[in-house]
Amino acid sequence: MNKPTILVVEDDAPVRNLMITTLKTHEYKYLTAPTGQEAVMLASSHNPDVVFLDLGLPDMDGIDVIRQIRSWSNMPIIVISARSEDEDKISALDAGADDYLTKPFSVEELLARLRVTIRRLSMMNTDTGADSSVYINGNLKIDFPAGCAFLNGEELKLTPIEFKLLCLLAKNTGKVLTHTYITQNIWGRSWDNDVASLRVFMVTLRKKLEQGPDSPEYIQTHVGIGYRMLRVE
Ligand code: CA
Repeated sequence: MNKPTILVVEDDAPVRNLMITTLKTHEYKYLTAPTGQEAVMLASSHNPDVVFLDLGLPDMDGIDVIRQIRSWSNMPIIVISARSEDEDKISALDAGADDYLTKPFSVEELLARLRVTIRRLSMMNTDTGADSSVYINGNLKIDFPAGCAFLNGEELKLTPIEFKLLCLLAKNTGKVLTHTYITQNIWGRSWDNDVASLRVFMVTLRKKLEQGPDSPEYIQTHVGIGYRMLRVE
């Protein structure tokens, strides 16, 4: 893929300049918008590859920017926000954001998140992408139509719920999925005890999937928020 174009949505000039300088240094192309309205306009007119989105904008809530963009596009959105409260992150993710970063952030962290997102983008455009019937990530292989998963060539003995969970995370590799999103997809609802069950299923799934459950290679935990399947090199 050519050098991706990033739309930087941020009203705070010093933060915006830091992001622009970082992108320039690493030879990314970029566009900037200091308001939500300009962000929505540029997103539709220029179709950027990735959006960096501040949630606290002068004219509208960043969450509404996500909803508007999501009404026509799946372009990856990384929320970058001073609001450290989990609830804002969860609302942003549930509205369709892919990832989040809390201010103040380091330039390395910003670049790392961007790389994860771009890898996800290029994966979606290749054979091993989300719509393919076989998923391969590191030593993990999932055969969706056959309903089985393999680690290092050996079939994993998964319960139907564990398999559903693994498929849901795999189909969204690189994206943070909230507890609500996961439980609604697995059980069709999201009650408190569903989230508690989810934690239990995640423990058993990881025991089967991860070599060292304390340093998971595949499934990352976002405490109080949800889980993400990582792309393993
Ligand atoms: Ca702001």
